[in-house]
Amino acid sequence: MSTVEKYFELVDQSQQQFIETLREIVGIPSVSSDASRRSDVVRMGEWLQARWEAIGAVCKRVDPGKQMLQGQELDLPPVILGQYGNDPSKKTVLVYGHYDVQPALLEDGWETDPFTLVEKEDKLVGRGSTDDKGPVLGWLLCVETHKQAGIELPVNLKFCWEGMEESGSEGLDAVIVAEADKWFKGTDVVCISDNYWLGTKKPCLTHGLRGVSYFHLQVEGPGADLHSGVFGGTVHEPMVDLVHLLAKLVDNKGRIQVPGIYDQVMPVTEEEERTYEGLEFSHSALSSDLKRDIVIHSDERDTLKHRWRFPTLSIHGVEGAFYSPGDKTVIPARVRGKFSLRTVPNMEPEKVAQLVTRYLEDEFAKLNSKNKMTVIETHAGRWWYSSPDHPNFRAGARATEKVYGVKPDLTREGGSIPVTLTFEENLGVNVLLLPMGAADDGAHSINEKIDKRNFIQGIKLLGAYLHEVAETDMTATA
Ligand SMILES: [Zn+2]
Repeated sequence: MSTVEKYFELVDQSQQQFIETLREIVGIPSVSSDASRRSDVVRMGEWLQARWEAIGAVCKRVDPGKQMLQGQELDLPPVILGQYGNDPSKKTVLVYGHYDVQPALLEDGWETDPFTLVEKEDKLVGRGSTDDKGPVLGWLLCVETHKQAGIELPVNLKFCWEGMEESGSEGLDAVIVAEADKWFKGTDVVCISDNYWLGTKKPCLTHGLRGVSYFHLQVEGPGADLHSGVFGGTVHEPMVDLVHLLAKLVDNKGRIQVPGIYDQVMPVTEEEERTYEGLEFSHSALSSDLKRDIVIHSDERDTLKHRWRFPTLSIHGVEGAFYSPGDKTVIPARVRGKFSLRTVPNMEPEKVAQLVTRYLEDEFAKLNSKNKMTVIETHAGRWWYSSPDHPNFRAGARATEKVYGVKPDLTREGGSIPVTLTFEENLGVNVLLLPMGAADDGAHSINEKIDKRNFIQGIKLLGAYLHEVAETDMTATA
């Protein structure tokens, strides 16, 4: 029996014990957005540090500073950095995860207490089970199992556990930048397990994420709100101008109307086209998730392309508008429309902002309005794209085949995981996204779960990946 097979066998034997450990940490309500839960977040970080130190890892607790939350000044939860093994003849893998979770209340519609892990058929239900306590625990259980069985870990492992991911990762970037040449020095590759399979049956590797550019479009008119019975039809109404402009941004087939916006988009190659074959994705499953068939495209591939590799524009809300129930005949004096673009290779955020601003100014000029319009870019995060041919991805693919017996789907995601790009840019190494959970896990939602199979096979997967990395020449060009 190979060492990896021996490891797999031990994981199978320890299933119930692993589930009990997950139960223990789901029971720590580490909600980073709730000031009253801050001590629980810190306790969760300390739990991880203690457990890693118990098996001989060297840890460093970094306290990244303070924040204002719900009117209180709070210490940010610690970033737990660690190193297990320091053999110069081995490769060094850095893994990242987060130990904080989204808020959860029984009243939100949970069937059981969110902070008590419940086994329901083949599911483990509880806040954080899949996002991201299951995977974070998976790395620990993987190394603990190796140690208990006397199997040498074939790589040096470095780790970075943060407690603010669900609240914008406040403080993390500065830690990564500061430690790039220190704690993270010598890292050969990075692996992050904090996203999901495309479907529910087939594992995947993720090699791309979209960026996001967020805008506020403000239209200002009178010095105060007006009465429509007196002023309707006699003044330029800010809301009318705003609605007109917002409607010019995107059509109802999802096509962005800003001239030049598609010019920087990487064309679809034949090679890329082939990666869409055999993906676990269907419109019928999508429509049932949505509870109504409102899908724009008729071809499944087009839906995925518009989620993964084309830019999109969404309108999110209007600040300053009347939105309460009932009728009110107000003319709002100042309104702010909020919209964002999801960006893709090779769009430059500066260029996007320029095109959007110029277009809105042109359209506003056509209105001959006496109101004042301002476009404000509030946030711009870049997209991330990595070649799935990189040896780090090939190691992930071989590990997946060993555990699941299938070639993983190659996926991209429509959202962002900003830390991916931060690691890649500051450490200059390849980053692999290796998800453990399935598409229907309900991260951030009610009744969050991870399937027992994904949890247990996932722990095998993380271990198998480390063994594959040890045997892969990471300098080989794809
Ligand atoms: Zn997460």
